[in-house]
Amino acid sequence: MSAPDAAGNDRTAAIAELVSGLVAELEPLHLRHNQAVWQANITGDPVHEQESARLEARIRGVYARREPFEMLQAAGAGGGARDPVLERQRQLLFNGFQANQIPPETIERIVHLEKQIESRFNNFRAQLDGARVADNAIRQALRDSNDLALRRRVWEASKQIGSEVEAELLELVRMRNAAARTLGFEDHYRMTLRLKDELEEAQLFAWLDEIERGTRPLYETYKRELDQRLSRRFSTAPEELRPWHYADPFFQEAPAPPVNLDPWFEGKPLEDLTRRFFGAIGFEIADLLQRADLYEKPGKCQHAFCLSLDRGDDIRVLCNLRSDEYWMGTMLHEFGHAVYDQNIDRTLPYLLREPAHILATEATAMLFGRLSKNGAWLTHYAGMPEREARAAAAASRRAVRDQLLVQARWTLVMCHFERALYRDPGQDLRRLWWELVERFQEVRAPDGRDAPDWAAKIHFSVAPVYYHDYLLGEAMASQLQRALLREAGGGGADAWERYVSSPEVGRFLRERLFRPGKSLAWPEAVRRAAGEALSPEAFLEELALRG
Ligand SMILES: [Zn+2]
Repeated sequence: MSAPDAAGNDRTAAIAELVSGLVAELEPLHLRHNQAVWQANITGDPVHEQESARLEARIRGVYARREPFEMLQAAGAGGGARDPVLERQRQLLFNGFQANQIPPETIERIVHLEKQIESRFNNFRAQLDGARVADNAIRQALRDSNDLALRRRVWEASKQIGSEVEAELLELVRMRNAAARTLGFEDHYRMTLRLKDELEEAQLFAWLDEIERGTRPLYETYKRELDQRLSRRFSTAPEELRPWHYADPFFQEAPAPPVNLDPWFEGKPLEDLTRRFFGAIGFEIADLLQRADLYEKPGKCQHAFCLSLDRGDDIRVLCNLRSDEYWMGTMLHEFGHAVYDQNIDRTLPYLLREPAHILATEATAMLFGRLSKNGAWLTHYAGMPEREARAAAAASRRAVRDQLLVQARWTLVMCHFERALYRDPGQDLRRLWWELVERFQEVRAPDGRDAPDWAAKIHFSVAPVYYHDYLLGEAMASQLQRALLREAGGGGADAWERYVSSPEVGRFLRERLFRPGKSLAWPEAVRRAAGEALSPEAFLEELALRG
């Protein structure tokens, strides 16, 4: 009886030693890498970009080692570690090592190319009529201008970056694929889904198809009405509408909600609103605000993100704030990521001190990001009179719905395109892009357009095989929202009131989702938080404005 026990104990001890040795090496490298990434993004200085590329190559070099990989593999085959927390670390390390069992020169070339493309995006400013314009100015023109010729030039300018990166990006896709094939995977897309996301492509696309079918009739109605509005606004026949008639370069946002919410944010410090809200639901974010970099600067990344530097207190948010509803929603989104990181149990081992899954941290961010359009939230934090909020409630609920609907159809384009990109990077991708845009978004391609418009979307370059997690995140956000309205909101008439201001919300998220970090496999983490398995059902119900 004692022999298998002894073998199990020996194996467990060997795994523990291996894990602690690897963490001792990886943790300081991660920290320095994240510091360099942060500096590169707030300054655009190539020194930091080079440093982050160098450190990333070193980290991946650790994961490329053969000997620890074989030990992790053999230990798994022998039954793994007895302690589930240790076994989870072994599994995660094993996945990371497996993805990197490729020659160091290949890793170096891939990282170099990734950083080069990322830096092109960071330093890019579109050229419009001989001047350089920032993303915010492009967004503003597409939202506000009624000058159709200008709108078209602005939209075209927003696509210039595509031509600049297309060739390098395709080279990168081919290199990633070649590496994945040497490891026995069909392509980089399927490998990354399996090893990073612990997700099978067939399961992912079954959910996406369900979302496609569930949103199609709603979207067709929405889009018909929108096109009628736009055709009146621009005095253009609906069939003459082209991408530049919509409110942003990719039509990923629902344009012009019937109620304009921007005035509620004009001249207001969004930091204060953010602090008051998170404080009310039980999260102290003063130190997070202090570390954040929130305003536009030359050379700075024009997007928004949250990065935990040390899986401890040093969590940073980057934004480019203007006091409007768009940036309010973005602030709430990014600080949603930040409070997740902040509330992971610090006694967990380093490798598990991360969100359960990308989709889980996105779900949290989205849950909060939706609130900048929510009547109860606007009353509490943006000073909208209650009577007005009540009157606007149906319209603002509709605005959230429209946004989710538009985003869902846009995300289908991204997911289908990215899968196809890795399946066959040699196909006519320019044409495929517009076929998918016409199919899912029902936006007509510009006549005779032959340009790499797909490559202008930054995610293919800097966040590969990630976009689907936004949509799965929305699905989970709807599940969480339903559970929170029921449990923290009490399910009554004032459920939304309590939902936007009760510390119960913070307690629920902290205990049910944040604290366990990555110690649970994600399907289990979702079940524990939402009370059910991941499913698009709550999301589709919300889009149908039921419940
Ligand atoms: Zn996010």
